[in-house]
Amino acid sequence: MNVSTDNMVYHQPIDVNVLNYLTDYLDAGFNLFPLKERDKIPAIKWKPLLKKPLTIDELKQFYETNPKLNIGIIMGPTSGGLIVLDVDHSPPEQLVFLLAENPTAAVQTSRGRHYYFRSKKKLPNLNFNWGELRSNDVYVVAPPSIHPNGIRYDFLNDCHLNEIVEIPDAILKFLTTRGSVVGKRGNVNPDSGLTSKSFKGNSKGKLPSNELIYPLLGNYTVSRDSPYSLLGNFGNTYKDPEIALKVMRSLGINVSKLGEAFRCPIHEDVNPSAALWKGKNGTIMLHEFHQGDNFWTLPEMYASYICHKKEFMKLSKSQMVEWWIRVLENIGHIQLPTIKFKPLPANVSKGTKATYEGFIYLIRIRKFYNQNEAEEAPFSWGFACDWCNFTKPTIQKGLKWLLANGYLEKAKDAIKCGKREAALYKLKKEGCFLK
Ligand SMILES: [Zn+2]
Repeated sequence: MNVSTDNMVYHQPIDVNVLNYLTDYLDAGFNLFPLKERDKIPAIKWKPLLKKPLTIDELKQFYETNPKLNIGIIMGPTSGGLIVLDVDHSPPEQLVFLLAENPTAAVQTSRGRHYYFRSKKKLPNLNFNWGELRSNDVYVVAPPSIHPNGIRYDFLNDCHLNEIVEIPDAILKFLTTRGSVVGKRGNVNPDSGLTSKSFKGNSKGKLPSNELIYPLLGNYTVSRDSPYSLLGNFGNTYKDPEIALKVMRSLGINVSKLGEAFRCPIHEDVNPSAALWKGKNGTIMLHEFHQGDNFWTLPEMYASYICHKKEFMKLSKSQMVEWWIRVLENIGHIQLPTIKFKPLPANVSKGTKATYEGFIYLIRIRKFYNQNEAEEAPFSWGFACDWCNFTKPTIQKGLKWLLANGYLEKAKDAIKCGKREAALYKLKKEGCFLK
């Protein structure tokens, strides 16, 4: 075989992981071939493979020589009708809605997602300004390949190849009424009945403006819901629809059931474009679908909202727990333990008061979470600004005053706090009074 890659200079045992992918793909009936290492460029001539696909032994030879080669899968009848909808970060709302309604295997790519479908009919390749439908005489880069920018192609949520569904009519209709056919018209098989003129959908690509109900997406889990597991026995609060609805109402967002669309709490949007969503493990999250397809935990939504953020903020696991307990206290679902602290004189600045009260509040929350918690907590600038809802200079001034006047002490200059470091502060106990 004529191998054109420069990388094949040494031999080493085939990577078990790559071998698993290769055999899984072959079992699924896919026609695959090696791409160059960390590249989308074929390592061999692939068009001849349409007539004679590579066998597992032939594939093994390539990947034994260089296990870092990427994997390409040829689209269309040669791969059992496999087609891939390549979607970037901002697909139209209606498509997001359709994809949510019709779960299938999907891959996280460097700029969006690849949704894997099968089609019994031969489809044209279609272009959109947000992506493309790759149907035949083309290939896609498949997991576990690495994009030239270093990002790995990865199946979403450990989905399996046997979860690839026949492309639903609604999605096909959506695509064929909007896409422009790639290449000359003559390249499209006229008998396929699927040129761009075939369907005359009347959808304008807009969601219903008043209310949108969609089925809960039982087949998906979002890995970022896992921090709730830190809550132990209290973890069930994040699965309770009544609590989720109460949280929304506490923010002034009137929503009466899961799946009911409302206006995004963070972004200005004209049409309702967010909804509460319940995943496979029962976690309720905010699904935001007016600019891509984003999922946020309820504490992230709450924190972003009350901090008047222009974008949603990501919280670390421990921050998420702290914010969630704060949410539960605010809606009256729990009571925080009281702690002793030294009261401030009446004439301190607003910022100092807010910093002190914010820190005490944080300690009470940490005590709720763990009764044996020492009365100390990491309090980074970034976190403190959001938590106390004041600017950095105000917080800095407040902390300085509290340290200088014996209200707080620094237990440690820097401790690990997620990926960052933060100073560890402690309440001073001398002359304390019960709250
Ligand atoms: Zn939004």
